[in-house]
Amino acid sequence: MLFHGRAFKPWRIWTRRPLWLKTLIGMLTGVAIGLGWSEQALLLKPVGTLFVNTIQMLMVPLIFCSIIAGLTGLLKGQTLDRVGIRAIGYYLCSTALAICIGLMMGWLLEPGVGADMGPYQRPEAIQDLTLATALTQLVPRNPIQAIVDGKILQVIVFAVALALALNASGRRGRPAIRAFTSLADGMFTLTQMVMSLAPYGVCALMAWMTGKYGGAIMLPLLKVIGAVYLGCLLHVLGVYSSLLLLLARLNPLHYFKSIIDAQAVAFTSSSSEITLPISQTCAERRLGVSPRIAAKVLPIGATINMDGTALYQGVTALFVAQAFGVDLHLFDYLIIISIVTLASIGTAGTPGTGLMLLTLTLTAVGLPLEGVALIAGIDRILDMARTTVNVSGDLLVSVLIGRREEELDLAIYQDPRAGEEID
Ligand code: ASP
Repeated sequence: MLFHGRAFKPWRIWTRRPLWLKTLIGMLTGVAIGLGWSEQALLLKPVGTLFVNTIQMLMVPLIFCSIIAGLTGLLKGQTLDRVGIRAIGYYLCSTALAICIGLMMGWLLEPGVGADMGPYQRPEAIQDLTLATALTQLVPRNPIQAIVDGKILQVIVFAVALALALNASGRRGRPAIRAFTSLADGMFTLTQMVMSLAPYGVCALMAWMTGKYGGAIMLPLLKVIGAVYLGCLLHVLGVYSSLLLLLARLNPLHYFKSIIDAQAVAFTSSSSEITLPISQTCAERRLGVSPRIAAKVLPIGATINMDGTALYQGVTALFVAQAFGVDLHLFDYLIIISIVTLASIGTAGTPGTGLMLLTLTLTAVGLPLEGVALIAGIDRILDMARTTVNVSGDLLVSVLIGRREEELDLAIYQDPRAGEEID
């Protein structure tokens, strides 16, 4: 068929659309199939399961290689200087705070109540876990076994220890660092490849879910979207404003006005890494952070800072627990907080990593991985919000550290027109 003198290829029109749009179309098509075919839509379940399995497949090697590549890349054979240590401290604290807000939103808004997918029995080993056992099990007796069994806290502990040791080994450690860095690059590419399949996986998952549970399943999912967006707003407006006021004595309004460009790119790309160059420009030219601090703090943030992702983990973990009728206890919350905070060190700021992290969180507290399937359908919508928070957090920490190190130009912070216009 000819179209304006050229062959009309509908497939090409589809492949050229941005991933978020294709995923959204996939999701809506899946809902329509599920509602139209009802029971027959369950035939699509294997396609959805395949997608979820592929996400799970990535997680342990991705975390392991990227913690080693990330940490050794950060340290570059030296010890961290004051600015680096401070940045990591701020990032980890705000990530832990964000997950508490996420858990609070999940607890207050109860997005999973009414989804009625249970009852589900958690594995006994997890139910009977005590604090003492959990602490002693942090260090794996056999790291290979920990990797094989997917015991993620143990994997993280071993990866951090190995990264520090390789960093301290100087020249002798470099070949191994190069190998892990190259493996991590490969894993990131594989992650992108898997995420490009999201429109089809999500379509199959939504068809299966609406076919099995009916259109009513959409309501709890809409509540998850509401809870995550509300939590993100609360975190950025409440926590970030308070930190700016209390720690830096700066007017938060200037900060919010100056970061809109970076937030817009983060929202549409769902990638902190893609947003990094615009964040750097925003930090230097609109917020008045010195180039030295911006160049040091923002790349650390793009890898380590995951406030939005952490908040999302809190809401979604509680959603899955509520949907399957599982009661979580204080100890489970502590496990979720530590897993997410530590795993954020190794998860890169690329689209969809939060969903992969969710497989870890759910496994760690013994919740069913069917929950990942539930969330996968709406994940892109959530990814847009959480990436925006991640990027806002990176910029916030650059301002706080700039202020503390006396490397923040107040004239630019208060009036960005004093800096150059962003090209
Ligand atoms: N897309 C997020 C980011 O780039 C990570 C995530 O999936 O949560 O920061």
